[in-house]
Amino acid sequence: MIEERSAGAVIFSETPAGMIFLLLNYPSGHWDFVKGNIEEGETLRQTVVREIMEETGIFDVEFVNGFEDKIEYHYQRDGNMVHKEVVFFLAKTKTTDVKISHEHLGFVWLSFNDALKKLTYKNAQNILKKVKLGLKA
Ligand code: ATP
Repeated sequence: MIEERSAGAVIFSETPAGMIFLLLNYPSGHWDFVKGNIEEGETLRQTVVREIMEETGIFDVEFVNGFEDKIEYHYQRDGNMVHKEVVFFLAKTKTTDVKISHEHLGFVWLSFNDALKKLTYKNAQNILKKVKLGLKA
């Protein structure tokens, strides 16, 4: 089995209308948070900062300390089973003007409830639910 490790972030921004969350449309069709594979020698947070810059053009994220959560899943790639783990942090930005890279089909900023509906996978929805609990505390 192939092992793959990624790191990502639930990125949010505070607007007069409330909090909004950033989701990306991945080439395989699903909607998910910003994430990417960890490169050799990088810390998880370095991966996340790099991926956010590369995938969204956002340069001003601030991590919200204390939030870290992990999901795992399996998928088939070229006939091989891949086991993937993704660690998510929580990051705040003032930049809503997103410039996505060629790696994604689109992006959207949504309220908590709409983001929860838009996220394709249950494990990603669970991350967002935990974020909401954390932000309220
Ligand atoms: P990365 O952003 O880490 O480089 P990627 O674009 O290479 O990711 P994934 O988003 O991990 O790839 O998608 C690979 C496969 O796994 C796709 O078939 C996708 O539908 C599936 N997948 C993605 N996220 C999940 C999830 N949270 N649960 C189950 N399957 C998922």
